[in-house]
Amino acid sequence: MSVITVIPGDGIGPEVIEQALETLDVLGLDVDIDVLDHINAGTYLRDGAAMTDRDLERIRRSRATLLGAVGDPRLSSPEYARGVLLRLRFELDLYVNYRPVTLWHPRLSPLRDSAGGGLNCLIIRENSEGLYAGVGGRLRADTEHEVAIDAEISTWHGVSRVIDFAFSVARTKVCMVDKSNAVPHGGRLWQRCWRHQVGEHPGIAASHLYVDTAAMALVADPAAFDVIVTNNSYGDILSDLAAELAGGVGTAASVNLNAETGYGVYEPVHGSAPDIAGQGLANPVGAVLSTALMVERLGHRAEADAMRRAVGAAITARRCTPDLGGSLTTKDAGAAIRAELE
Ligand code: ATP
Repeated sequence: MSVITVIPGDGIGPEVIEQALETLDVLGLDVDIDVLDHINAGTYLRDGAAMTDRDLERIRRSRATLLGAVGDPRLSSPEYARGVLLRLRFELDLYVNYRPVTLWHPRLSPLRDSAGGGLNCLIIRENSEGLYAGVGGRLRADTEHEVAIDAEISTWHGVSRVIDFAFSVARTKVCMVDKSNAVPHGGRLWQRCWRHQVGEHPGIAASHLYVDTAAMALVADPAAFDVIVTNNSYGDILSDLAAELAGGVGTAASVNLNAETGYGVYEPVHGSAPDIAGQGLANPVGAVLSTALMVERLGHRAEADAMRRAVGAAITARRCTPDLGGSLTTKDAGAAIRAELE
């Protein structure tokens, strides 16, 4: 029996997680669900902390975590989100951010000619270093002479392991994206790790693009990509660009993963979307597809594929929420996916 931790979180998080769990239930897998529904903005506002050391122990004892969304308009500082998301990422060393991008139906893409080549790629973002490592500071803060520094951290170990992972999941080719022509120090390190990893994986085609060119290429010919591997900040931006090309944030799935321990925090890419919370408008597809990633990594490949096929069939039949051109509520869109699954 595998124990799965579930953190429904805030805003539309509980709504989409409900649909994800009902869909998981249909599969009849041998899993036990440990729900931590006190980890949310309300708890943070009341107690000043959302996730305790005890919660983290429970999470560590589970095989995986499924997370809805973390965020609340009443909180202006990033401390709450850092205390949950970044704490999980750093304490569990979830160094891979894994973002599959699939165009489920041509009508979902803003691109004129999306039907031709399709879109089915994977963006692997380094998740523990880079510009988001929190290294830096301010001098003469809040004056007209303020100096602000955010350092971009790249280590041989961190860069090598994420590139190695990208090769391990590639079907045909890996494209490494950096800006080594303008960011020379980290760029040189990425290039050195890249050359080493290319030599270690002779069966997979390898290419390199600067991030500005990669952004243009993703729009011009997204079908040309298999796996993109890049640093934390470029990955953040390119993966959202790719998600939008494939139908928007409501369909995008992700996992924050440690490839050695196999532990993953699975979450839809969207946030808490307070503007639509409680109205039945939230698209559950991102949460269902994140659950499919989890099911696959727990060893149930056939069930995960069945979930993905069910999502594709429901979207094709317009049995989906308004953001994808349907007219169903969150619950009914979840039920439509389950109907295809059964
Ligand atoms: P947060 O601060 O938690 O990141 P946010 O509203 O700033 O929340 P998102 O939650 O990513 O950021 O939402 C951006 C917009 O996309 C929302 O205003 C909402 O209209 C839309 N959106 C996000 N998720 C979904 C979804 N699952 N279904 C439909 N629309 C969504």
